[in-house]
Amino acid sequence: MTTWAAWADAEAAALHRAGRWREVRDLDGPGPEITLARPDTVAAGISFAGNDYLGLSRHPAVVAAAHEALDRWGAGAGAARLLAGARPVHRELERELAAWKGTERAVLFSTGYHANLGVLTVLGDAGARIVSDERNHASIVDGCRLARANVAVFPHGDVAAAEQAMAGAERVIVVSETVFSMDGDAAPVDDLATMCARRGALLVLDEAHGVLGPDLAAAPGLLLLRVGTLSKALASLGGFVAGPGPLCDLLVNRARSFVFTTASPPAAAAAALAALRVARSEEGATLRRRLRTNIDRLAPGHPSPILPIVIGTEAEALAASAALGDRGLLVPAIRPPSVPAGTSRLRISLSARHTEAHLDALAAALRELGVPA
Ligand code: PMP
Repeated sequence: MTTWAAWADAEAAALHRAGRWREVRDLDGPGPEITLARPDTVAAGISFAGNDYLGLSRHPAVVAAAHEALDRWGAGAGAARLLAGARPVHRELERELAAWKGTERAVLFSTGYHANLGVLTVLGDAGARIVSDERNHASIVDGCRLARANVAVFPHGDVAAAEQAMAGAERVIVVSETVFSMDGDAAPVDDLATMCARRGALLVLDEAHGVLGPDLAAAPGLLLLRVGTLSKALASLGGFVAGPGPLCDLLVNRARSFVFTTASPPAAAAAALAALRVARSEEGATLRRRLRTNIDRLAPGHPSPILPIVIGTEAEALAASAALGDRGLLVPAIRPPSVPAGTSRLRISLSARHTEAHLDALAAALRELGVPA
């Protein structure tokens, strides 16, 4: 009989051989300025790996709101929302998220990952078909796997193929990210919306990275659920689904990733609420303009703060990332299974808090390494 230790060693060796071994790297500092703690050295550096797109995680109003919530409600919610875990701040945040997204209701989840699992498992029942873009995030893939619906995957961004994949199904969910997390490209949201409205399909859009859009134009007759995260531009932790009241009520009743997990810490909800208020204010508009300017400095006109540089093999991507690390620039190598084999890449993630000096240092290092930005 194979022992578990031998099995684990063999699995680890296979990951090492494939260049897919991963390790948690401890970083200190508020970001994007960080301390890179490497086994041999500790060096100051700049992170291009975070999702705090507007730099709100250390905004004074956000930090103060979290402090106040901690003092009022303590560290943890202590129970699921439906038991004793609900605090007024959860509902207040749901109300403001719904107002922001222009929907009747919003439901909070512990993470965006839980939100995608909830939507797809509840609505993707045995009588449904889920039609999913091939580049959708792992949380959507896992939602499809857990759902009892029949699942069809369509080629990236191909609306005609998505429509064909609906053939013969009675109730259809079309699911797509609005900005794809590893490619930074935008989905054809308006075409998807028009097609779904025409076919009576439910459109689920994951807007996790959509800090600069694309925003859906009004699509009369469209049934739409908008999934979001509090963990990126909203600087905290949590996820949500925004949409019509009856569908949101069903999620509260049936989503196992809502019902059977502890409510988010009140301080996390309070921080997200404060961040949302900043994001919707004039200051938020200024931060988005700054982010836009930062993107344009490296990649003029690129639709999102995620800039992929496809390198090729795992080893080549790791080497490029390590060479940048040596220069104090944290740019992760993204490898399978996050991206298809042969497309391992550097993934640059920009924030409104990056300065021109940060961006120029990165551009110079990429030039020096012969990596096309
Ligand atoms: N959807 C997408 C497109 C994502 O990129 C992520 C996180 N990387 C999630 C959902 C999950 O969000 P969270 O981190 O809040 O679980």
